[in-house]
Order: sequence, then structure tokens, then C-alpha cells
Amino acid sequence: MSVLDLARPAVRALAPYVSARMMAGPSRVMLDANESPWAASIETGDLRRYPDPQPRQLCVQLAELYGVQTAQLLLGRGSDEGIDLLMRAFCRPHEDAILVCPPTFGMYAVSAAIQGAGVVRVPLSGSAFALDGEALLKAVSPAVKLVFLCSPNNPTGGLIQPQTIVRLLAELRGRCLLVVDEAYVEFAPTAGVTSLLAQHENLVVLRTLSKAWALAGARLGALLADARVIELLRRIQAPYPLPTSSTQAALQAMDGGKLAMQERVATVRAERRRLRDALQGSRLVRDVLPSAANFLTVRFVDAGKVLDRLAASGIIVRDIREHAGLEDALRITIGTPEENNHLLDALHEPVSSRRSA
Ligand SMILES: *Cc1c(COP(=O)(O)O)cnc(C)c1O
Repeated sequence: MSVLDLARPAVRALAPYVSARMMAGPSRVMLDANESPWAASIETGDLRRYPDPQPRQLCVQLAELYGVQTAQLLLGRGSDEGIDLLMRAFCRPHEDAILVCPPTFGMYAVSAAIQGAGVVRVPLSGSAFALDGEALLKAVSPAVKLVFLCSPNNPTGGLIQPQTIVRLLAELRGRCLLVVDEAYVEFAPTAGVTSLLAQHENLVVLRTLSKAWALAGARLGALLADARVIELLRRIQAPYPLPTSSTQAALQAMDGGKLAMQERVATVRAERRRLRDALQGSRLVRDVLPSAANFLTVRFVDAGKVLDRLAASGIIVRDIREHAGLEDALRITIGTPEENNHLLDALHEPVSSRRSA
């Protein structure tokens, strides 16, 4: 039993696409790919050539950052592309399914719907929105090929313990892949689960440059998995998935930028603590969920009114009331200290409605 036996036969049978840039590296006269020999004069630099499908330097740097081999890493247009590739490679339309634990990131179910895959839901349980491992394992039918866990979870902010993930990986081996979305792990007190990849062929970890690295506009994410899974996913990925300008932006951001990233993360953590304390003292607030991410999910006495009040001050937060169990909640991204002060000012009750001393 190999992890590839879980994949769609049609995908396994695909011949890998071979692009011009895979056949031959850069050289002085390049007449092989119908490119313009003249560079357009735009400020982002020379964009006349097709990019390396998996830009070597960025792959090497990210593999080092995440503690994996380059063969265990696939770069794509954000984690979103990783989710889509997994769906298309492992879920046969109208036969297979994914499992999600709501309330969670909506892209998993959206992507499944596009593919025609079913969605099995095992809700997070209790007021702490904890993962119910037993219920999850019971719900894994033979149709389930991908189990999506998000840690820290969007939108509840909770972390899944690594021991729980180890146990699920062992139980699910040979049955389905466990996909751990770690988009926010840089903001968490733990290092995440990439170190488990070496021993678990059914583990996939999603990382992104969109959050802690401040590069959402570059659309760069990394899917980390067994080298055979990476090779399989490359067969269905677009030939030139990463714009040259995005790769350049990422290399610039990472070149000596790790300290700057760590400083941003430290500020977000400190502000998360400050904002949580302040919000918990507000009469408008019912509860603030503990968060390991760069946002706080806050239960309000009247979330609709808070949305209006913030909007009147030019502040937009995420309305997450459509999630079962979060009907009174808004998700607030941690901003700069100044932005957070604006938020707190806007939430301050008007003087007239305060109790007089
Ligand atoms: C923001 C986010 C991502 C990142 O998506 P990209 O496509 O990499 O920008 C992934 N997963 C979750 C849960 C997120 O909230």
C-alpha cells in the first residue's frame, strides 16, 4: 500500500508536462519558447522570459526555513493553489470526499465543491472549539481522501496539539492524507508539524508567505509533503505558476528580512495580548477566544451594532456570524498599535451612556 494508491488513477496516469524552461536552462540566445527578445520597459524589471516553474533559489531558501528537503516542497499561487491541487489529485468527482472541522477556513469546502467531491463535517466541540479526534476518526469513511485541519484555526484561533496530529496520522495511514494548514503558525507558541513529514507519508503541511511574511499580494504558498506526492501534484499544476515579480519580491523580502519578520510577529503577539485584555474589559464584549494567530475572534453583546459603529469610524472587521456557534462573533485582525488604538477608541461607549462615578 503506497500513498499513491489513494490518488485518482487518471491523475496517476498523466504524463508530466514538460515546458521549454524545464528542457533548457537560461542561455544567451533563447529562441525556444516564442518569447519576446526585447524587455518591456516596466519598473519591476525584466519580465520577457518565462519563469522557472519552481524557482530554485526560493525553493532552497524555503526548504531550509521549513526544515524539509526541496523534493518535499511545492511552491504555488498561495495555499489556495495547494488546496486545489490536492483536491484534483486525490478526490474523484461524485465518489470521494474531504473531511473538515467547522468552523474553519471556507476554501476547503469551496474547492471540494468545484471538484465535485463530498464534504464530511465534524464540528469542533464545546465553547473552546476543540478538535474531537474520536469523532473525526469515526467519520472517516472509505470515501474520505483528505482530512483538513487548520492550526491555528481560522476563524477560532485555536491550536491542535502535535500529539493529536501524530495519533491521527498513525490511524489514518493508508486511508487518507492529513492536511495541516499552518498559515498562521508563525504567530503561535509552537513550531508546527513540518518535522513530522519525514516519518509520515500521509502528512501534508500548508505554509504561506501571505501572513507573517506580509506578501499576500505576491501569491506565494508552499505545500510540504512526501516527495512522491509533490511529484504527483506537479503533473497537474499550471506550467508557469509563479510570476517572476512575485519570486523576486519573495527573495527580496527573505534576503535579510527574517529579523524584520520576527519583529513584526513579536509586535502582533504583544498587541494581541493588549487588545484581548482591553476588549475583555469592554461592556460590549461577551468573550474573546484565545488566539494563537494574528487575529482575535470576539463575541459581542450586539455584533451588528459593533459592525456599524466601527464602519462609521472607517474600520472594517470580518463578520463571521454565518458560522454555527459564532452567531455573535466578529474576527478582528491585529493591526499596528495605532490601528488597534483606533479600534479601541471606536468601541469606547459614548460618555453619556457610561455610569457616572
Ligand atoms: C490566509 C489563509 C491562508 C493563506 O492563503 P494564501 O492562498 O496562501 O494566501 C491559508 N489558510 C488559511 C486558513 C488562511 O486563513
